Amino acid sequence: MKKLLVANWKMNKTQKEVADFFLEFKKSFSEKRDAWIAPQTLHLEMALSLTKSHVKIGAQNCSEFLNGAYTGEISPASLKDLGGHFVILGHSERRQYFSETSKGLNAKVRSAISQNLKVIYCVGETLTEREAGQTLSLIEDQLHQGLNDMSIANTENLIIAYEPVWAIGTGKTATPAQAQEVHAHIRQVLHHKFPAFGKMLRILYGGSVKTDNVEELLGQKDIDGGLVGGASLKAKDFLALCGDK
Ligand code: PEP
Repeated sequence: MKKLLVANWKMNKTQKEVADFFLEFKKSFSEKRDAWIAPQTLHLEMALSLTKSHVKIGAQNCSEFLNGAYTGEISPASLKDLGGHFVILGHSERRQYFSETSKGLNAKVRSAISQNLKVIYCVGETLTEREAGQTLSLIEDQLHQGLNDMSIANTENLIIAYEPVWAIGTGKTATPAQAQEVHAHIRQVLHHKFPAFGKMLRILYGGSVKTDNVEELLGQKDIDGGLVGGASLKAKDFLALCGDK
């Protein structure tokens, strides 16, 4: 399977900046690696109209409810209807600022998968948790709670992003060995949870991925790609991460 680079643009970019990004990106993107992009919800339709099928577009969050009286929420059914391909769930910023918990996220994950959206489910430890030696058990809990009581129909339904909270937007990156250790553990847990497909699910690393560390990280056995914030905002940088200099 090709390595996958997912751009998380968070709450950034004007419409003009979105248009300029795609103009530049499309000129050089060679599909050596898979590239998915999650713009702000307000820019989803525009991004979909500016890309062809070779770049997949998705959202940074969605509701557990399919539709109804839930003011301000993002319907996974409408996201699918619009042409969205995937949704990122459980990003540490959502856990930190919007009180999302793994238990609560379980309903969102199941709802998105029911709509045939691919789910990128994020897990990761804080620095305090790492220093207390809790990384592996904490991540196991996040996986068990967030992915409780569900099945997957193929290797494409679900992607895990391991994002150590202390490495997101800080310029600090987990060493390739630190990341590989956690990824190998995640793979084991997935294998037990989903015996048919678990071993083949993609596991992305996220946390200050940049052009100067991407190759070493992606060279690790269990790292199938990256979830990228800051370095995905400029087309030139994201192209480089996708292997297109
Ligand atoms: C992220 O927000 O998922 C992320 C990994 O951000 P950054 O690449 O900026 O650390």
